[in-house]
Amino acid sequence: MTTISNVTEKQKVLVETWGCQMNVADSENMLEMLEGENYVLTNDAEDADLVLLNTCHIREKATHKVLSRLGRLRETAKNHNPNMKIAVAGCVAQAEGKKLMDQAKNIDILVGPGKISELPELISKNKTTGKRQLSVGFRDPETKKINKTYSQSTTAKPAIAGKTEISRYVNIAQGCNNFCTFCVVPFTRGREISRTIREIVSETSNLVASGAKEITLLGQNVNSYGLDLLQGSTEEGSLREPFVDLLYQVADVPGLERLRFTTSNPHDFSPSIATAFSDLPKLGKYIHLPVQSGNDVVLERMKRKVTVAEYWERIDWLRKAVPEMAFSTDLIVGFPGETDEQFADTLSLVEKLRYSFIYAFKYSPRSGTAAARFTDQVPEEAKTERLNALNLLQDRITIEQNQNEIGNHREVLFHYESKKEPGVFYGRTEQFRLLRAQSESDLVGKTMNVRVTEANKTALVGDLIP
Ligand code: SF4
Repeated sequence: MTTISNVTEKQKVLVETWGCQMNVADSENMLEMLEGENYVLTNDAEDADLVLLNTCHIREKATHKVLSRLGRLRETAKNHNPNMKIAVAGCVAQAEGKKLMDQAKNIDILVGPGKISELPELISKNKTTGKRQLSVGFRDPETKKINKTYSQSTTAKPAIAGKTEISRYVNIAQGCNNFCTFCVVPFTRGREISRTIREIVSETSNLVASGAKEITLLGQNVNSYGLDLLQGSTEEGSLREPFVDLLYQVADVPGLERLRFTTSNPHDFSPSIATAFSDLPKLGKYIHLPVQSGNDVVLERMKRKVTVAEYWERIDWLRKAVPEMAFSTDLIVGFPGETDEQFADTLSLVEKLRYSFIYAFKYSPRSGTAAARFTDQVPEEAKTERLNALNLLQDRITIEQNQNEIGNHREVLFHYESKKEPGVFYGRTEQFRLLRAQSESDLVGKTMNVRVTEANKTALVGDLIP
């Protein structure tokens, strides 16, 4: 295998990660590869031999943001660090490819999410030839390069700067086969490729052995995990669905206290996943289940493949399995053609379901997606009004829900200590509510019983129960 350099002196890498948890997991995997090549983390661009930007394409002006960061790095390189190399990874790299390299001449390496296993080799080639390197495209489902990327290490991958060691991410699949009409993911991350259960359990065990207490399994659509592995397989497998099988096996890892997963597409959400919540206490009492709209016509145009009634059916399965289940969701306002009446259906769904919190966004066209070509785009002003109305409603519900927690006893896994207020610790309840508590002894990594005493929109406050 090609190595980046023969020098024994450590090289320094600054990793900047934008966007979703998938990108955080990808950054950790790239960092793991780079550590194997004699790199250590730095937080300072002036000091970095390599700056790695792991980019996100989901929001508007994504490319503009990357170009602006590259412009600032050009100044840093000119004034303080002329030998700095710059690698751009992530979905902007995949979507823009050579065009981005033409726009920003200070990019040395450009690598798409499907090609991150090639990063060390690309850096090495850049160093030895002085030529700029580009590798984009999707993983080959035949060679399953994703497995090569993630499975070989027998030690825990490093956490990227700012991320807690207590709660870690494990990728279970890359890509998506769904093609929701607003979403760019199938174009930037390709079709779904799953890792094997053995690899995922092994990575989880390594992370738990290195101190992790909570694992979040990541995929664009975790519920369809493993269906690609079943295709063409002649081996006799479990009778359970692959994702459900995975949940039971990962939950068995000794020392793991909490297991979460995201993101779930309601279309592929089955009753067996709800049953897993009642069977496996480690799964807690919370799920993120994106609905996107409360109106069937809009859902149809989004190609979400579920109706509002089917979405409620899944909520009922979960509430029957775990009566105290807490929910969050994603919502898009101002999807092309959305009328005031259709938006009112979204408000009424939110009012009735009572999510703990929501991620609500104004629709913005992503190039290459079907909805970007719809001609009935909603005016910006209407989108802003709808977003404000939705957030106002949800803020009220969140405050009410949090205040209903006062007096309850909750099991809290503490993740970190406040840097500004030593002795103040933050953790999550089983319903994923943020809770702060004071303690003279270190609570990080501990699961404690807490009585909730106060609540506001963002967090609960509690006293430890001896
Ligand atoms: S299921 Fe999720 S990742 Fe896949 S196309 Fe739909 S929104 Fe995008």
